[in-house]
Amino acid sequence: MAGNQPIYILPEGTDRFLGRDALRLNIMAGKALAETIRTTLGPKGMDKMLVDSFGDVVVTNDGATILKEMDIVHPTARMLVEIAKKQEDNVGDGTTTAIIIAGELLKKAEELIEMGIHPSTIVIGYQLALAKALDKLFDISISASDKETLMKVAMTAMTGKGSDKAKDYLAKLIVEAVTKVANNGEVDKKDINIQRITGGTVDDSFLVDGILIDKGKADDSMPKEIKNAKIALLKYPLEIKDLETDAKIDLTNPLQRQAFLDNEEEMIKDMVDKVIESGANVLFAQKGIDDLALHYLTRAGILAIKRTKKSDMQRLVKATGAQIVTNVEDLTADQLGEAGIVYEKKIFDQLMVFVEETPNAKAASIVLRGSTRHITGQIERALEDALGVVAATIEDDAVVIGGGAPEIAMSKALKEYAETIPGREQLAITAFAEAIEVVPRTLAENAGLDSIDSIVDLIAAHEDSEYMGLDVFSGKVVDMKAEGVVEPQRVKKQAIRYATEATEMVLRIDDLVAARGALESTGSEDDGMDHSGMPGTYNGMGQGGLPPMM
Ligand code: ADP
Ligand code: MG
Repeated sequence: MAGNQPIYILPEGTDRFLGRDALRLNIMAGKALAETIRTTLGPKGMDKMLVDSFGDVVVTNDGATILKEMDIVHPTARMLVEIAKKQEDNVGDGTTTAIIIAGELLKKAEELIEMGIHPSTIVIGYQLALAKALDKLFDISISASDKETLMKVAMTAMTGKGSDKAKDYLAKLIVEAVTKVANNGEVDKKDINIQRITGGTVDDSFLVDGILIDKGKADDSMPKEIKNAKIALLKYPLEIKDLETDAKIDLTNPLQRQAFLDNEEEMIKDMVDKVIESGANVLFAQKGIDDLALHYLTRAGILAIKRTKKSDMQRLVKATGAQIVTNVEDLTADQLGEAGIVYEKKIFDQLMVFVEETPNAKAASIVLRGSTRHITGQIERALEDALGVVAATIEDDAVVIGGGAPEIAMSKALKEYAETIPGREQLAITAFAEAIEVVPRTLAENAGLDSIDSIVDLIAAHEDSEYMGLDVFSGKVVDMKAEGVVEPQRVKKQAIRYATEATEMVLRIDDLVAARGALESTGSEDDGMDHSGMPGTYNGMGQGGLPPMM
């Protein structure tokens, strides 16, 4: 009777869930994650206050930031966090949308499974639906990337993100910055640097036509300004290593010590001479510069900056045409870059070095001002979203209308399409159609409106025009194109794609093997509360010192 003997193939201390159980657990985790952030969707979305274990506070309604700050441990929830990250990297906006669509697709899948439909049938139906939904999305897209459209796109992304008072002004800065660095319709977002300086108000923010380094020159007596700059970028320390640790000589012997110091002095002088001989009058060093070297550099009239950030060095390469030199011995005139002017200036109480009029004009910096660090932090996140959407609009030359309009259009198209599909896949397509309505539904809920009424009104209004969306401020269904609520097509396209991908991944899992305890949270173990019926808090989230969220 060996058949009755259980065979252990897994180590002790492993939890295993099979088939339905595995699926149910995973779907629960995905839904819970979506529940957690759904209240932040749209201009009327609420903020979340996140406190980490060091007591640092972040107040935000930015989906990507929330997911980053929350220490999510459940593996399935983490898979969804991954799609949010992909959305953030690829588009720079629409993370909340991607997650709540995924949550809804999972919820609908669960209902279908309860009805006895196999997960792989659902996957096929969802794939058919995705293709059809994207067809419709492309259909209703508008080809536009003129400045006026870019402004609207930037403002839509910033609405409700704590920057509303200065939205027009900030949108203009973003559009100017992005159009400046755009190169044959491509935008490298790294060419734009946002520099936060606390102090002053948001209206004091401004655009720098070039590169901004957030530190002053290395020595006070160096020139404050250099015209026709010849710029050297050096990734080599202009200093001799620490005397005490490096030296093998007897430092207590005064003669030897003097000889050593003379030698060191000589080496430093040689290094600086290399810089001078190259013809450079501005030096950005990625490493340190010794006091003595500073003295020689100052005497030669060179403006030097030490410990320049790597990202700034890369921007300088691109904009000035300089090459980063790793050994000062190799520095020659060929490797120098150029700029019309390099100067130091104090903004509020922070010294900065500006590099302007560069030959390859592919650099822009935005100096963001605000009264507190929290305010500039919140606005910076809004600016980053705006940056992402403006870049995506320039690159794709395609926008859609916001406020739930495209979701309703896609949903309607899918419901019609479903009727043409025989078999059980039809049910999955209908489910997909209903799932993407979660976007307008949530916009309505977050605006304190009746979501059922809003959806009914939207569907009716779409008989006339596919640009009808929900204006969350008036609570009415209006032509959102006329309202100027415009988003890049890419935001919607990728959100739906990534959401479907993640759902499929979850639906294909029928065996969940986990180290014991891996699916449990550490934070909510003994708080004496029953979380079972509470959205957003299940055993696997709300960890890392964060209070349970609703
Ligand atoms: P995400 O992280 O997904 O970008 P947001 O909180 O930025 O989430 O909300 C985006 C949603 O808000 C989009 O569906 C967009 O169309 C909608 N939206 C933006 N502005 C308005 C507006 N004025 N009225 C209604 N909906 C809007
Ligand atoms: Mg957004």
